[in-house]
Amino acid sequence: MKLAALPGVGPRTLEQLARLGLETVEDLLLHVPSRYEDRTRILPVADVESGQGARFLVRVRDCRVQFGQRRSLRIDAADESGEVTLRLFHFRQEQQAQWSPGTWVLCWGIIREGRWGRECVHPQMVRVPGPEQLPDLGSRLTPVYPTTSGLTQPRLLKLQQAALTRVHDLFPELVPAEVRPDLSVADAIVTVHSPQVDADETLQLARDRLAFEELLAQRLAVLRGRLRAREDSGYPCEPDPQAEQALLQALPFELTTAQQRVISEIRENLRSTEPMLRLVQGDVGCGKTVVAAAAANQVVAAGYQVAIMAPTEILARQHALALRAWFEGRAEVHLLAGGQKAAERKSTLKAVAEGAAGIVVGTQALFQSGVDFDRLGLVIVDEQHRFGVGQRLALRDKSGSDVIAHQLVMTATPIPRTLAQTLYADLAISRIDALPPGRSPVQTVAMSQHKRPAVIDRLREVCAQGQQAFWVCPALSESEHATAAEEIAEMLSESLPELGVGLVHGQMKSAEKIAVMEDFRAGRTSILVATTVIEVGVDVPGATIIIIDEAERLGLAQLHQLRGRVGRGDQQSFCVLLYKPPMRDTAQARLRALCTTHDGFALAETDLELRGAGELLGTAQSGGHRMRFAEALLDTRLLPQVVSAAEITLRNAPQHVSVLVRRWLGGRANYADV
Ligand code: ADP
Ligand code: MG
Repeated sequence: MKLAALPGVGPRTLEQLARLGLETVEDLLLHVPSRYEDRTRILPVADVESGQGARFLVRVRDCRVQFGQRRSLRIDAADESGEVTLRLFHFRQEQQAQWSPGTWVLCWGIIREGRWGRECVHPQMVRVPGPEQLPDLGSRLTPVYPTTSGLTQPRLLKLQQAALTRVHDLFPELVPAEVRPDLSVADAIVTVHSPQVDADETLQLARDRLAFEELLAQRLAVLRGRLRAREDSGYPCEPDPQAEQALLQALPFELTTAQQRVISEIRENLRSTEPMLRLVQGDVGCGKTVVAAAAANQVVAAGYQVAIMAPTEILARQHALALRAWFEGRAEVHLLAGGQKAAERKSTLKAVAEGAAGIVVGTQALFQSGVDFDRLGLVIVDEQHRFGVGQRLALRDKSGSDVIAHQLVMTATPIPRTLAQTLYADLAISRIDALPPGRSPVQTVAMSQHKRPAVIDRLREVCAQGQQAFWVCPALSESEHATAAEEIAEMLSESLPELGVGLVHGQMKSAEKIAVMEDFRAGRTSILVATTVIEVGVDVPGATIIIIDEAERLGLAQLHQLRGRVGRGDQQSFCVLLYKPPMRDTAQARLRALCTTHDGFALAETDLELRGAGELLGTAQSGGHRMRFAEALLDTRLLPQVVSAAEITLRNAPQHVSVLVRRWLGGRANYADV
């Protein structure tokens, strides 16, 4: 059902919803809250944690206009437990009379420690006759949705409420009765949008119901894709010993046994006409790039083209740089990225279409129409966890003929084997299970932000000796990112005037980013201040120190990825996790785990333990992780049920397969159309 069918939805709202990836009312209903607020309970002011949204009931003591930097209406109020100042910046003079001393006010807002005590800026306020005569606060949690600028929570909530009146029509049961869970999908959706207070179990049940169906749809899409793939064929590429020799000679190191093993697994796949679908897993820094190069080598030597897709432009450029060195004189390596000049782009597209470009490295830009290959033999996707299944397949269909390209997917995310086989039933798996020799674990310490000056002193010493450091500033939003990073860069340049300090963040133009990265790579700057844009893949072996500011805000997997930016050479490397006290228990446990553990798989297990189901609904996955309900690592317990349900659906309700796949994967699965 079209979103425009909802009351009051015009072009502007449509555009905002499209930014959230929502095109139909069904999509909207599957756009679930990222967290909930309990607005049903009135808390004593003194018990409200600073920074938390809370409902409280207070009595006005004084109300006046305050002139400061900004004029505001200041209402001093209190309950039996303590005082709080309610502050309005937008107000009309007449309002002052409404809040005369003695008035009871029921509020909802965020209380913070202000300069003059506890403050709440622009709370929602209702006057009430007294504590005995309160309005009904209901018994349901208030959902908070992920949104985009211009689309407010109340507006989104209204849209959801309108959509929910149609949920039973829009979400008929599609899972065959034999394997259908008791709870209907429509009821589960209703619950997820407005759960009862204190009904965690019911909410969990609803979530499981949706996770189950999402996993089922994913599994069905993959099974159907596999059926289709059986009929496909790829270009057989015979190994070429001379080309293999040439690559080995161009490398500045010897391959590890683990790399050799994985390369030989790939070698066998590539010589077959059956299209390869292989996932290479290996911890950060294990050397996946060279494995990709070996695969590319075999395909290029056989006369076909290779496309390599990276999640960020910085990473794509870095791959292009490495590959140009390794393939010098043997293959043309081209780059296709968003920020390129038109002329450069045009000549690349021509080389790709005519087959002169043996290897093309790029970002999502590789998917765009207008990118046509002459004879695409192999697609390599780096850091797969960043891409949806749909994208992977879109690229695969670009082979330029009926022939399907071989595919190699590389990731540092330790996906459990059971899960990989269920969700990506079409993938064979290789593991690079050892790091190159001579690496010593990155020494990791956690320190309070108060120790920043000491950290800067230490940086001065080691950078004077020629070492290089990353300084990472995580933050919640893009713009917050940029300012935090700018401030840190400024502060470091002031304290360390003798050292070059570079700055790279997501809001910079790509040409600027490239120049800054190049300066750092070439050693012209000693410190690179960055936002988490450097999280995946960046390889500057000379950098030996990484400082992660506000590390308590990041997840374990992301911290591990970031730490993997150092410890890539044979020098001892260091990672400093700066945190802002006080820290929550789980954050403390995360940092502790990181200080003592260096293995990505072990860390992933710790991560699982730390993230109980309770925290689940609140965690927004970073990056382009597209699952809505199913949390890849946590929901492995649902898999056996999903596997059998998929079989039964294919057998007993084949007519529902497409609808289910479309419901959950939408336009993202390009094989959603039969
Ligand atoms: P990742 O698996 O994280 O993508 P990279 O491919 O970026 O790792 O490799 C990490 C670093 O290790 C790079 O600097 C690379 O040149 C180096 N490297 C890769 N393989 C070896 C090896 N066999 N011996 C020594 N260094 C290696
Ligand atoms: Mg990599």
